[in-house]
Amino acid sequence: MDNAVTNLNNTKSYDFIIAGAGCAGLSLLFHLLQSTTLRGKRVLVIDKNFKKSNDRTWCYWEDTAGTFEQLVCKKWDTITIHNGPLSKTLPTAPFTYKMVQGIDYYQYIINLAKQHLNITWQEGLITKITTTGTIGTVHLEGGATESATSVFSSIVPIRFQVNFSDINNKFNAAITNTSTPFLWQHFKGILVEFDTSVFNANEARLMDFNVPQMGATAFMYILPLTANKALVEYTLFSEEILKKEDYDIVLKEYLANFIKNIAPNAQYKVVHEELGAIPMTHHSFGNNKAPIYSIGTLSGAVKASTGYAFQFIQAQSKQIISQLEKGALVNTDMHNSRHRFYDAVLLYILKHKKMEGKEIFSRIFKKNKAATIFKFLSNTSSLMDDINVMRSLPTRIFLPAALRILFRRP
Ligand SMILES: Cc1cc2nc3c(=O)[nH]c(=O)nc-3n(C[C@H](O)[C@H](O)[C@H](O)COP(=O)(O)OP(=O)(O)OC[C@H]3O[C@@H](n4cnc5c(N)ncnc54)[C@H](O)[C@@H]3O)c2cc1C
Repeated sequence: MDNAVTNLNNTKSYDFIIAGAGCAGLSLLFHLLQSTTLRGKRVLVIDKNFKKSNDRTWCYWEDTAGTFEQLVCKKWDTITIHNGPLSKTLPTAPFTYKMVQGIDYYQYIINLAKQHLNITWQEGLITKITTTGTIGTVHLEGGATESATSVFSSIVPIRFQVNFSDINNKFNAAITNTSTPFLWQHFKGILVEFDTSVFNANEARLMDFNVPQMGATAFMYILPLTANKALVEYTLFSEEILKKEDYDIVLKEYLANFIKNIAPNAQYKVVHEELGAIPMTHHSFGNNKAPIYSIGTLSGAVKASTGYAFQFIQAQSKQIISQLEKGALVNTDMHNSRHRFYDAVLLYILKHKKMEGKEIFSRIFKKNKAATIFKFLSNTSSLMDDINVMRSLPTRIFLPAALRILFRRP
């Protein structure tokens, strides 16, 4: 069913176009459908390829049952951190660390939205989005155009995306030359299934720095779904990505070492893989001005110092819907200036190798409760929480870095 209004020029027009139906686009759609004021609006959702398989797994923490609780496939209330002789177990209370499979999320929202006949779906490659007066126009490959009062786009331009076939792939020079520090968070995760029990399914191994650091910050995490099945992910923060096979070598060696003293003859098969790269930066890739607004990664919703984005995308969607309901100006900015500043300082230190990332994170986890760190990483910490986290770190390194960021001399 076509829900567009056709005007005198015969071009179709919607209230909203959601360009890109990934996490941010579908989250916005979900929250729009919760709004009694907005759920009847004419909405067009466009994606080059609507998701049909599981392309990623999201983890996040909450201190209550959240909006997507029924989609959570596993929760943990204990995390562990490892670095050389340090092996620390931390209860996460009052938070729970949760996992949602991307495909469950996509299908849940698409199925919900398909019950609303005012939502139109279109598969197509968007080539550009332009503004004519107060109207936003989405241009599709082949020449077709679609217009709306507001366009919400999560489409990251190709030049800002990682190409794992090109290991020299870096951020566009335009970004490297800005005063905004940046790194890639790049990773390969494998979902492994062992023929015997090897994992403690109650504990999420959040950061194990006992892996090749590759001159960067690197760690492994293990998120066990059962005693013999886990997502094992090798993650690095650096300017350059690795060759695809290098992630595999590290994962294989790590698992061999992991089972050595538990079940040396255990065999496993890889049932799923995910390879990804997330920009860690405050650089803004997109637009935040009527009638075109960027959302999700494009809008900087990713927390620059950690790569976590799922919860920020939820908060961003709610913020946009609330602004639209009130007829207020839409502002998609997510990170407050205090936490942006901390992120920038940390990125500066990592980028310029002023202190090893494994030392920074190990110190923070050694000296603080998981709950304090989770609040700090969610941008919900109080100034006192922040002071506690920062007291874990050496002033002689962090103070000069903070001053450089303050005076914009990265
Ligand atoms: C593998 C992986 C694991 C992650 N794990 C976590 C995690 O555990 N916790 C966390 O908080 N964050 C995580 N993130 C970060 C973040 O939550 C995700 O990247 C999130 O999916 C970002 O949402 P988005 O909508 O901005 O981008 P996407 O979800 O990538 O959506 C963009 C959409 O735009 C479409 N598109 C792109 N170009 C075009 C075009 N030209 N025309 C039409 N459509 C187009 C794509 O098909 C896609 O559907 C992870 C990221 C990745 C890649």
